Amino acid sequence: MSTVWHVLGAGSLGCLWATRLSRAAIPVRIILRTPQRLADYRAAGGLRLIEESQTSLYPITAELPTTAEPIQRLLVACKAYDAETAVASVAERLLPGAEILLLQNGLGSQQAVAARWPSSRCIFISSTEGGYRPADFQVVHAGHGENWLGDPLDQRPPTWLRDLATAGIPCDWTADIETRLWRKLAINCAINPLTVLYGCRNGELLAHREQLSQLCEELRRVLMACNQAEAAHALEDEVLRIVEATANNYSSMHQDVRSGRRTEISFLLGHACQSAQRQHVRADELNALLQRLQLFLMQHGLPPD
Ligand code: NAP
Repeated sequence: MSTVWHVLGAGSLGCLWATRLSRAAIPVRIILRTPQRLADYRAAGGLRLIEESQTSLYPITAELPTTAEPIQRLLVACKAYDAETAVASVAERLLPGAEILLLQNGLGSQQAVAARWPSSRCIFISSTEGGYRPADFQVVHAGHGENWLGDPLDQRPPTWLRDLATAGIPCDWTADIETRLWRKLAINCAINPLTVLYGCRNGELLAHREQLSQLCEELRRVLMACNQAEAAHALEDEVLRIVEATANNYSSMHQDVRSGRRTEISFLLGHACQSAQRQHVRADELNALLQRLQLFLMQHGLPPD
């Protein structure tokens, strides 16, 4: 019997992973946070994966964190601000040497989980796949991408990577997962907050070239101070390339704010500002941007963290 994948959180990415694992006949359970969510799930009859307008239903077994079954492999599919609390809710069930796979964007939440559960193997994932929820327990597979997996403490790839490939979940093992996460964080810091504050599409940031340039220079210095030279390489060029290539898109943070959803800023721009402070790097533009963004969020009734 192969190892059960326990998927913690049945949001966009949780659904995207659980449904594809289930389709490949890989044993999977989803863990929902409350009896009410479990009742809602049972009423829905399972998870729905919507691909190219085709909907498939997967009646995957769901359970509460308090279920007795031990956990060998846990895929944490919550937002960064929920990850540590969510893992704590199932921590007693983790077997010695259990694997915790962390899908969170930004940085900080993965390190908090790894520090708190040192006897587990924590694998960080940087995902460029895209999914959104048209309704509870449904996901639209909106963007094909890649999942980069890595373990900063152990370079050996797990044997189950081929299960993911069998399930049609694109994945690659990398020795530089932190570089990838830092690079993605830095690009996010340069683009996303400004799109929220200016209320604009990515391409409209080209009207604010000087500000983009100053942010990239500060981010570059923060990355260098954090021993992330590779993530810092030609950052501004890439930011400009992305802004142009996605000119008509609204950034994910812009979409979150417009839809009244909490952002993950503490793990993105907030993490960059904290790192600057810790490394004694001057970051006036980044700090001012964080303050303006926090004020904006509060004025729009959203948490500033
Ligand atoms: P999401 O749709 O908001 O789903 C998060 C899920 O976690 C929700 O269903 C929530 O439950 C659940 N949850 C929160 N706390 C929990 C707990 N204690 N126990 C059990 N479940 C809990 O988020 P997402 O879009 O999948 O994003 C997850 C992470 O992946 C984020 O860090 C995001 O930045 C990253 N990411 C997402 C995408 C994407 O396209 N969506 C792409 C790349 C990276 P409720 O439903 O009960 O609230």
